[in-house]
Amino acid sequence: MAVIPFAEGFMEDISANPYDANLMKSVCNDCGTGFFGTKDRCENCASQDVEQGVLDRDGEIYTYTIQRYPPPEPYKLGSTDRDEWTPRPVAYGEFDGVRFLGLVDGDRQQLEVGAPIELVVEPGWETDDGDEVLIYKFALQENET
Ligand SMILES: [Zn+2]
Repeated sequence: MAVIPFAEGFMEDISANPYDANLMKSVCNDCGTGFFGTKDRCENCASQDVEQGVLDRDGEIYTYTIQRYPPPEPYKLGSTDRDEWTPRPVAYGEFDGVRFLGLVDGDRQQLEVGAPIELVVEPGWETDDGDEVLIYKFALQENET
């Protein structure tokens, strides 16, 4: 059994410390736009002068919603049966100015625009071959205000 990332190009090398892996970003040196994951070309201005780096783990909720319906197949984290579905928060997190979608874990009383979140990497599901797939989530942090 191996531990593998949910997709190529979004996590740094996980061979040493998979559950402590950082997520990756790309920032365009021409227009300054930041992206989730490693990109060879800017999706805003098409420049190829793009620098890749590690995303800061501390961010905030840019916006969010409560997903009240199951996603379509293929979905690996649970049942897609409407009767078994439990509504859950989904958010755009912002880290280093990079915004991307993720599932939200933690105390829902803290869920609001601007709420502090931390990027966490954890086991998501197991493949048919028995490999463990790593996913990321946004963990709500205690809000001091
Ligand atoms: Zn650009």
